Amino acid sequence: SFRLDDGVAMVTGGASGIGSAIAIALAEMGSHVALVDLPSSDASATLKAIEAEGRSAEFIAADVTSAEQMEAAVRRAEGSLGPLTTAVNSAGIAHAVPAEDMTAEQFERVFRVNVTGVFLSCQAQARAMRENGGGAIVNLASISGIVSHREMLQSHYNSSKAAVAHLSKSLATEWAQYGIRVNSISPGFTRTPMNDRAEVASILDEAVTRNTPLGRPADPFEMAGPALFLLSPAASFCTGADLVVDGGFTAW
Ligand code: NAD
Repeated sequence: SFRLDDGVAMVTGGASGIGSAIAIALAEMGSHVALVDLPSSDASATLKAIEAEGRSAEFIAADVTSAEQMEAAVRRAEGSLGPLTTAVNSAGIAHAVPAEDMTAEQFERVFRVNVTGVFLSCQAQARAMRENGGGAIVNLASISGIVSHREMLQSHYNSSKAAVAHLSKSLATEWAQYGIRVNSISPGFTRTPMNDRAEVASILDEAVTRNTPLGRPADPFEMAGPALFLLSPAASFCTGADLVVDGGFTAW
């Protein structure tokens, strides 16, 4: 089945962009959803959309770079929604800096959020899922972890996303014994607040459109089906996989 009826999902970065779109799709498939995001984020539209599907939703303010905050977020989600069954880790950051000018602090900050943050999120989620007899996790990697678009000037981001895909494979091998599946998706260029930056906008409009066989960037909702598939019982034999969702960008 592709349904997740009465499951409990946690989505980090769930207030915006791809995380928000997947959170709403989780509710459409029958799941209750805990949205984890920074205190400064506005999750109200996403919460409303989940509740419109007749499912329970809760916003939990937490920073994915804190092990304590992620452990507390999982406890709180389980306390109000029930045992955790699925998780999507979409919290991430990006910005443009030429590699020759990049400071160690800039490089490490991106790794701290995009790699350590995914690791700490998975760890807190898997500890709960192990108690619950299993579960499924999808992490947000990127085609930027497969190919490097020179004009994007994000060597730290590109390498962090390669790490996310391989981290997901490593966790899949270790946690299969607990009935926990871990996969990643690698979106192509997607219209979200992350890409709503001047330096990205022109690249999106020209190079991406020209180099994408489907001829356009993705809508965030186009990441929901692939993520939901990997979270659902229909993907019961998928673990350690990375699903590329890029309109053909890396195919030619
Ligand atoms: P977005 O900026 O719209 O959303 C990211 C969310 O993560 C935001 O709500 C932000 O508040 C949250 N966040 C950032 N740091 C956090 C932290 N320390 N703790 C908790 N939450 C934090 O971005 P998006 O475009 O929806 O991207 C979502 C994921 O998909 C990211 O991991 C991104 O790298 C990946 N991705 C995006 C694209 C794209 O083209 N947009 C392509 C490939 C992969």
